[in-house]
Amino acid sequence: MIATVHDLATNERQRISADYLVACCGGASSIPKSLGIEMHGTPALEYNLNIFFRTPELWSYHDKGKAALHFFVDPQGIWRTLVQLDGRELWRLSLNGKEYFDNAETVDASAFIAGVVGKPVPHQVVSALRWVARDLVADKYQGGRVFLAGDAAHQNTPSGGFGLNTGMGDAANLGWKLAAAVAGWGGDILLRSYEIERKPVAERIVKQATGNFMRDRRRPSHPEIAEDSAEGARARREMGEAIIASQSKVYLTDGTALGYVYDPSPVCWSDGSPPAPDSIMDYRPTTRPGARAPHAWLADGRSTLDLFGRGFVLLRLGDAAPDPGALAAAFTGRNVPLTVVPIADPRIRELYERSLVLVRPDGHVAWRGDAMPDDPLAVVDCIRGA
Ligand SMILES: Cc1cc2nc3c(=O)[nH]c(=O)nc-3n(C[C@H](O)[C@H](O)[C@H](O)COP(=O)(O)OP(=O)(O)OC[C@H]3O[C@@H](n4cnc5c(N)ncnc54)[C@H](O)[C@@H]3O)c2cc1C
Repeated sequence: MIATVHDLATNERQRISADYLVACCGGASSIPKSLGIEMHGTPALEYNLNIFFRTPELWSYHDKGKAALHFFVDPQGIWRTLVQLDGRELWRLSLNGKEYFDNAETVDASAFIAGVVGKPVPHQVVSALRWVARDLVADKYQGGRVFLAGDAAHQNTPSGGFGLNTGMGDAANLGWKLAAAVAGWGGDILLRSYEIERKPVAERIVKQATGNFMRDRRRPSHPEIAEDSAEGARARREMGEAIIASQSKVYLTDGTALGYVYDPSPVCWSDGSPPAPDSIMDYRPTTRPGARAPHAWLADGRSTLDLFGRGFVLLRLGDAAPDPGALAAAFTGRNVPLTVVPIADPRIRELYERSLVLVRPDGHVAWRGDAMPDDPLAVVDCIRGA
């Protein structure tokens, strides 16, 4: 395959011969379509305009105190949010509505800023950028030797902060598999497992982000919510409580961000243990095959996560771990890179649930056990996708 790279700044063109190509070219890319890959979902949930502006210590101009995220509610509902971006002076005012999206160049940014603060304040408008809230996942993540990653493969609303994280997860999953294919030890199933493992993660996240976004955007307001009356006060209190409950699900998402498990996966050796209950908010560390190997501090100040990234890592945990020689020999026999790392700390042994835990280069567990597998070569062939 020949890729032509065009440097727009210098107008230089370069031809690169490659075995594989990763299309990580964002949501506007034409590459999925050119591969015959369709996106399924909703291409436009809502149209929005972001006004970025600078006002140092904006909180000193109003009486609502410091906050990272502000919602502005009127009888039309929640169509304006203000987000603090740098802890000091950079702000993002989002306006929800096609009329603002369509008029990005002419919208009176200063009037909207004064509208949310309650009075004109010194400010510098940085930009007004339109964006569309989408709910899309590619039908396929692979067309021949081209792979989709990041927003080219899935697009979600920003509610939850999942987009970039999901793209990074794609890269971590695909990177070592491509390296294995190029090095020669990765089997046919390894590259196919990229879509099998990552697409369900995207589908779950896109659904959750859409739910987050629509819940508050579509929340009905009260006609008297802005009035100085008992009814207005009650409406404001109820709206505030509803927003806090809803936003807790948007921001407290450790279960979604860390708790996903590649299950089923053709390249993880299932041990038949039951899955943990699915939770958005709570992350329960586990070494169940397919899960992210948990973080724990090592005696030298590093994290267990610092051990992973290059080749497979076999952790020998506690003082009763069997000799892993037969498994290590199977790795050598198949030219698959492996490092064996002993960890004596009993707390980490308990956290890791087994005395032998095999971790992939992307930090996910491939196999675990308290004894050597009956057929070490079969395990190695499974996890390298042979
Ligand atoms: C308002 C808003 C708030 C968000 N907040 C968060 C958040 O809090 N947390 C989070 O995780 N995510 C957030 N996101 C989502 C996040 O911005 C995206 O998911 C992320 O930027 C996608 O990264 P990407 O590299 O896949 O695509 P992009 O960032 O779109 O980058 C793709 C790049 O490829 C280039 N390109 C395209 N075609 C080609 C080509 N043929 N050759 C070479 N280059 C090409 C493009 O010019 C672009 O620079 C937010 C998004 C929005 C709109």
